[in-house]
Amino acid sequence: MLLAAKWVLPISQKPIEDGAVVIEGSKIKDVGRFRTLVNKYPNKEVLNFGKAAVLPGFVDLHTHLEYSVFRGACDDLGYADWKMQLTLKSESLKKSDWIQSAYLGALEALQSGITTIADITKSGASLKAAKDAGLRGVIYYEISGMDHAAVTDIMTKAIKGIDKWIDAASGTNLIIGVAPHSPYTVSPPLYKVSTEWAREQGLPLCTHLAGSKAEYDFVKYGSGRLSNEYWDMVGWGDILWQPTGVSPVKYLEEWGVFEGGGMLAVHCVQVDEPDIDILEKYNVSIAHCARCSAKLGMGVAPLSNFLNRKLKVGIGTDSPASNNTMDMFDEMRIGLLIQRGMTRSADFTAEDFVYMATLGGAKALNLHDRIGSLDPGKKADIVVVDMSHSHQIPTRDPYSALVYTANQENVVLTMVDGKILYKDGKYITLDESEIVKKAEPIRRRLKMDS
Ligand SMILES: [Zn+2]
Repeated sequence: MLLAAKWVLPISQKPIEDGAVVIEGSKIKDVGRFRTLVNKYPNKEVLNFGKAAVLPGFVDLHTHLEYSVFRGACDDLGYADWKMQLTLKSESLKKSDWIQSAYLGALEALQSGITTIADITKSGASLKAAKDAGLRGVIYYEISGMDHAAVTDIMTKAIKGIDKWIDAASGTNLIIGVAPHSPYTVSPPLYKVSTEWAREQGLPLCTHLAGSKAEYDFVKYGSGRLSNEYWDMVGWGDILWQPTGVSPVKYLEEWGVFEGGGMLAVHCVQVDEPDIDILEKYNVSIAHCARCSAKLGMGVAPLSNFLNRKLKVGIGTDSPASNNTMDMFDEMRIGLLIQRGMTRSADFTAEDFVYMATLGGAKALNLHDRIGSLDPGKKADIVVVDMSHSHQIPTRDPYSALVYTANQENVVLTMVDGKILYKDGKYITLDESEIVKKAEPIRRRLKMDS
């Protein structure tokens, strides 16, 4: 198959005007000018998208597919209130509901041109949905627990669960990882034991870190609503939490959580220069979730400081429970505009954000040898974005058009591993009408008044 368009954006090199990508099996065979490639490969089926951009599929560095049905159910709340609403409303969902909710997220991922996800899931629903959808990604098994006496039990259960998930992911494009949830939901010994075990097993790691001020106050001072109301709500009211006197990043360093590398930290908003020194020292990757952080009043991450230190940074949409959509174009655009507004500078370009949403995310997951750019030998994870609409023309710069004018509705093709999973509004692997129909009753069951 040969995909042709006005623009091909390999990311690893400059955009190619009137370009094409040749696909053979699951891999990219060639990238270059359309005229050259159509002569070189005369027998290939040609799909010409005209005024469009062909680029690597987006790497969404932080998702919770299973929370998709919560879209709009916990709006207009600060982080601690949002977390408590989400926890409360989650109680009304059954296992099958979580799976349907995750299917809804998988639909949107494909429509948004997301080909790789880094998903934290408690129920395992994201694994099933991502597998059936044909997505690539890392599915992290969520671990939480504050009772020091329960560490062994929690780990025994987790190890059994992870074994099952690894079996279920066999033969797919999915890898299983481990995610101790966050500093306010994971006890110090559980952080230590779970990260050490994951490293022994060679499994990737992820954690929410330094997101809200509420988390910061909890870790450093032992104060705030997370240590009081939230802990009471989840049954940890009798557990003693000793304030650490240090920042969340420093606290995890002291417990050896970053030792050995391979950690993806989500958010990293409440960080100062000494924290960034630590992130740099241990080569921690960062999932930058700008819209979620803004919507929940968490703050703005110091993105230019991360990039000046050459940290591996990608873009995450987080879940529709907090961010309402998984639109990677919105995420790039708003993320860029927030930085410009906050820093009163034009340090970042549209190209920087497309890089973070593709190859940057792939590097953060250590998958850049396989995905993230259009290069011969890499996996054919590809998205095509229509740029022919009135709000997009005229343009001479495809990066500008993608970041400042496009939305997920402009995605016309999403391909993973050489297989078309979404084309012209139609899903190949998922039954859209069935998934949407089943999501509505679940949404109605959520306790809307609490
Ligand atoms: Zn999250």
